[in-house]
Amino acid sequence: MSESSALEAANTFEELRLAPELLAAVAAMGYTTPTPIQREAIPLVLAGRDLLAQAQTGTGKTAAFTLPLLHKMKPFANTSTSPARHPVRALVLAPTRELAIQVYDNVAMYAKNLPLRSTVVYGGAGMQEQEAALRAGVEVLVATPGRLLDHAGNKLALLNQVQFLVLDEADRMLDMGFMPDLKRILNLLPAKRQTLLFSATFNDEITRLANSFLQNPLKVEVARKNSATELVEQVAHRVAEDDKMEALLRIVRVRGLSQALVFTRTKIAADKLYRRLQRRGVEAAAIHGDKAQVDRLLALEGFKQGKIKLLVATDIAARGIDIAELPCVFNYELPYHPEDYVHRIGRTGRAGASGLAVSLVSAEEDKLLAGVERFINRKLEISPLPSPPPPPAPARPAARPEAADAGSTAGTYARGRRGREPQVCALFLPPVRPAQDDGAHE
Ligand code: AMP
Repeated sequence: MSESSALEAANTFEELRLAPELLAAVAAMGYTTPTPIQREAIPLVLAGRDLLAQAQTGTGKTAAFTLPLLHKMKPFANTSTSPARHPVRALVLAPTRELAIQVYDNVAMYAKNLPLRSTVVYGGAGMQEQEAALRAGVEVLVATPGRLLDHAGNKLALLNQVQFLVLDEADRMLDMGFMPDLKRILNLLPAKRQTLLFSATFNDEITRLANSFLQNPLKVEVARKNSATELVEQVAHRVAEDDKMEALLRIVRVRGLSQALVFTRTKIAADKLYRRLQRRGVEAAAIHGDKAQVDRLLALEGFKQGKIKLLVATDIAARGIDIAELPCVFNYELPYHPEDYVHRIGRTGRAGASGLAVSLVSAEEDKLLAGVERFINRKLEISPLPSPPPPPAPARPAARPEAADAGSTAGTYARGRRGREPQVCALFLPPVRPAQDDGAHE
């Protein structure tokens, strides 16, 4: 039993005794009940304790640290135009730009009724706008570590008044090699502060990080150790590498999925799958570390708006993606690190919704599968691929003339406009446009 469970659990946000401005913001978001991590963490943060929290993205962890910190900063809220009246009081470190932006968006929403300023700084974007925001003064600074150090080096991010430090997705920060940056940042912060560490997974490295960053922390866990979220239905199919795209499209059709996030291990594999999907007329996009920031944001936005049906992503690029009601995640390739499996499937089945995680496992991936199974402490049964859906009722010839000569795949696919690869129809009905030829060879 965690120490925190000794506290009386709150069933409403009002019972958490948050400031009325925050309660109004929460109500405006439509949240009525705190999630388990919020119930556990908020009273402890309000009480001033350091926290070691195990919670995956999707559990409501952002509000779990943002709401109590804003509550504690309320006495400092002011409308003065003087930058000196708006020192950085809360610093939130996140591993990726996407997560940093998402956390910042949340902070801005929860703080909208309080005169507290916030901003976000991350690499891969221009310095000027970020510098202007820092010069004007902000109470809450959300940052990726490298860019924060740039601004600190230029004396624009002054961290000597930080009272609250949050390390979000700490395991990922370590995976990405941020430990040296974190240590440098730590040296810029006052020793007397409150520190909250959130991590989806715990291991010895996280414990070492906690020992050097936190003081007498309380541990909060909302899921069993390293357990994959239980709301997610997890299925695995045996599929040869070359047949994976067909299997993906078939499952999407048979299950009637409106959208899915599709994980590959590498940037090259992500690009390759993206191009093949595009040639099939599927509305797809790819995000990975080599993509320009603006392209990544556009792809995410398109996905959130439903314009993009399949978003192909590498593990790092997908960190922190928060899409309400994402129905399905595909492990097109199993991850090298078993904990990434947990991160991946945590993208679906969010905040109480059920989700589906489908792994397409080739014979070469059996070792990776065994690693995942050890990590989640459960066996993933390999089930046969679903049968192709029955042919649709014949379309009126004038409406879709190309369906008439669909050959052996009739009913599942209509032939592509250029006759090279069959084009997916039904669910993914792409806008009628010529497939792009990007000259890629597979
Ligand atoms: P997070 O784990 O912070 O990424 O949050 C996951 C999702 O849950 C986000 O879309 C939040 O907006 C949403 N959320 C956070 N708190 C609540 C709540 N108490 N009730 C319902 N949804 C929530």
